[in-house]
Amino acid sequence: MQLVHPDALHFETPVESYWEASADPLGLELPAFAGEQSCEVAVIGGGFTGLSAALELAERGVDVRLLEAGHIGWGASGRNGGFACIGSHKLPYSSMISRYGLEATIAYYNAMKESVALVADNAERHGIDIWKTVSGEVTLAHLPNRMDEFRDDQRFYRDTFGEENEVLSRGDLVERGLAGPEFHGGLMGPVGFGVHPLNYVRGLARAAHKAGAKLHPRSRLIRWEETGSSHRLTTAGGTLTAKRVIVCTNGYTPEDVSPRHAGHLLPALSSIIVTRPLTPDELKAQGWTTETLAYDSRILLHYFRLLPGGRFLFGGRGGTDSSAAAAADYKASMIATFHRLFPAWKTAEITHFWRGFVCLANDRVPYVGPLDEKKTVWTALAYHGNGVAMGSWSGRAVARMVLDEKVQASLPAVVTRRLAQFPLPAFRPLYLKGAYLWYGLKDSR
Ligand SMILES: Cc1cc2nc3c(=O)[nH]c(=O)nc-3n(C[C@H](O)[C@H](O)[C@H](O)COP(=O)(O)OP(=O)(O)OC[C@H]3O[C@@H](n4cnc5c(N)ncnc54)[C@H](O)[C@@H]3O)c2cc1C
Repeated sequence: MQLVHPDALHFETPVESYWEASADPLGLELPAFAGEQSCEVAVIGGGFTGLSAALELAERGVDVRLLEAGHIGWGASGRNGGFACIGSHKLPYSSMISRYGLEATIAYYNAMKESVALVADNAERHGIDIWKTVSGEVTLAHLPNRMDEFRDDQRFYRDTFGEENEVLSRGDLVERGLAGPEFHGGLMGPVGFGVHPLNYVRGLARAAHKAGAKLHPRSRLIRWEETGSSHRLTTAGGTLTAKRVIVCTNGYTPEDVSPRHAGHLLPALSSIIVTRPLTPDELKAQGWTTETLAYDSRILLHYFRLLPGGRFLFGGRGGTDSSAAAAADYKASMIATFHRLFPAWKTAEITHFWRGFVCLANDRVPYVGPLDEKKTVWTALAYHGNGVAMGSWSGRAVARMVLDEKVQASLPAVVTRRLAQFPLPAFRPLYLKGAYLWYGLKDSR
């Protein structure tokens, strides 16, 4: 049973996304890794997490090198929906409170909010044009009975986190330009904004490079040997010896070369379609005129946003076959769902379709911390499909932990408990299929 099809790992080819078509150039000539080199800290993976870690380390004067198999941002970081938002877990808050305690749950919620602010701060501090949109995100009731849950959630957020959310009626949605035939109301939260994810990740790379990090795209780690207190990391071009390694490969984690991750993660596909720019009349005809980030209330949710410039981005989970052959069927089903939810846009061409991996963990929360007793191997991952902000925060956090062990105690326990293995890891693809069937059933009533 295959977790990831080799078709999904063509590191040399950029994904055919709207972001690749519209991003600002990286503007740096970065060499692939070559020869025999050494460094203090090696980072594996050139997405939000790895680059945030490299940036933090370089700014603190640490000799850091980063190996990325594709180009900078090749993985999920360059191809996501661009929702800088909270929600990097699948564990319900009630279970989180039972497992980690109220204080740790509040600390985790505050960390997620801080992570969203960090994205804005990074953009500001490093002069990155991230195409930032208005603040706030709305969950839309896909069935009328979800409105009661929204009212409960509103109370919970106020009482637990001191956060004010607004319950919106169907009429409110129409007034705010969030209308659709299957949206029965909404829950609007204040946190989150849209970004151009590839611009953001490229901007982080420029900042890390400027701070002194040595970044190596097209440098896939193919062998990892531990010799006493150091790590020998081999790519096609040479070998890097490092005292410490931070693995930031999330849904693309190569379990064969990073055995400490083996059986601990579950990559899951997320897919996106983007339309041509819609005219103001077309937007009015649908009743959707705002750039607010939106999801529906399904567990297997759809996420969508009007992009600056008038294109519409529509994404969804699901699909367990990452082969190229399976993509066409999934694209067709995404388009059919999109047309059902946004019927006025049936004639708007779909100009882009792409997929990528998010990363789930058995305990359904992110993990930031060490992977070995000696604390020479570190990782930050498992953002459960929400890593634009949390990847940035976790990359910075893991870098700080590597430099100072005391940092761990100051982070929310929700993200620092040891990463748990899946029971019978070989059956992970079946877990996903089973979960999708079960969630599909729950979403239908
Ligand atoms: C379609 C899609 C939509 C999404 N939408 C959103 C969204 O709107 N908002 C949100 O918050 N999150 C979203 N996510 C999730 C988010 O993109 C991720 O959580 C985040 O990008 C993770 O960042 P990362 O740096 O940890 O991992 P990644 O960006 O996935 O980077 C991992 C990198 O590791 C590299 N790598 C793998 N193996 C090796 C190796 N052997 N050697 C060297 N390098 C290697 C890969 O090439 C890859 O570039 C989405 C994800 C997808 C796929």
